[in-house]
Amino acid sequence: KLFNEIQELKGNIRVYCRIRPFRPGEDDKSSSVEYIGDNGELVLSNPTKQGKEGGKNFTFNKVFGPTTTQDAVFKDIQPLIRSVLDGYNVCIFAYGQTGSGKTYTMMGPEKATEKEWGVNYRALNDLFNISHDRRDTITYELGVQMIEIYNEQIRDLLGSGIQNTTQPNGLAVPDATMCPVTSTSHVIELMQTGHDNRAMSATALNERSSRSHSVVTIHVRGQDLKTGNTLRGALHLVDLAGSERVDRSAVTGDRLKEAQHINKSLAALGDVIFSLSQKNAHVNPDVSSYTETLSTLKFAERVS
Ligand code: ADP
Ligand code: MG
Repeated sequence: KLFNEIQELKGNIRVYCRIRPFRPGEDDKSSSVEYIGDNGELVLSNPTKQGKEGGKNFTFNKVFGPTTTQDAVFKDIQPLIRSVLDGYNVCIFAYGQTGSGKTYTMMGPEKATEKEWGVNYRALNDLFNISHDRRDTITYELGVQMIEIYNEQIRDLLGSGIQNTTQPNGLAVPDATMCPVTSTSHVIELMQTGHDNRAMSATALNERSSRSHSVVTIHVRGQDLKTGNTLRGALHLVDLAGSERVDRSAVTGDRLKEAQHINKSLAALGDVIFSLSQKNAHVNPDVSSYTETLSTLKFAERVS
């Protein structure tokens, strides 16, 4: 069902499927992935139901097989990420059940080597390096926010009292700490702080991290030294809560509340992405709504 829903997403929304490798102790003879094609094809079958219905076919923008490196995944989304420096807003979500590799892709494994760095590190580092390279034509300021959403409450993962220096473009979470990025070692330090803050609560609250959404946002402000024009862009990197459906009849209390919040937020996210991909722009023709209409149409044009 998930794959079917995701397949509906077209247009300026790209959908990749990454299959993680089997881990020690797992039965690597029981793969449900029957076929991976070069053009994003995937055939999923259930080997425990032999001879029954055939495999189910899916097509994504791309399928990353179990041997795909972190570097290869990043290469594919790098142009998208770089467009933030030209004033675009980009959002990357990792969606999947707990244990499917979302955090590995976005952050990397525990104590990651540079080769194992996830999208977050690589994106931040790449944006920082490019902005540095362009410093003779455009001066960029990069600011980072890291938050966690748990039970519809937002927690600041960089709460260290550092002052906000980058003016956000309206997509920032007010009051969450915004850290300026000034060097590559600073990038590493920031990611580590956010990661440690998240992990701390994970142990305390029994793997809470799989039931919260984590959002890393890189805010970019650039000023063209010749024209004086400014541009703003933002990159949101989201490691979503596990998408596994919790059987509501089997859980009570805190777990039930968590499950309801997760299901509600993932359903809302699905609605938003689906309507973006449908390119429906609802506008009021009245001239008094001109400004709103213009901004809606611009928005729609950008996502289509
Ligand atoms: P999730 O965040 O979706 O719950 P994790 O990212 O924590 O899942 O991955 C579960 C386990 O599988 C972790 O031990 C992780 O290191 C490992 N893992 C996930 N993806 C990969 C991969 N592409 N290569 C190697 N190990 C992986
Ligand atoms: Mg995770």
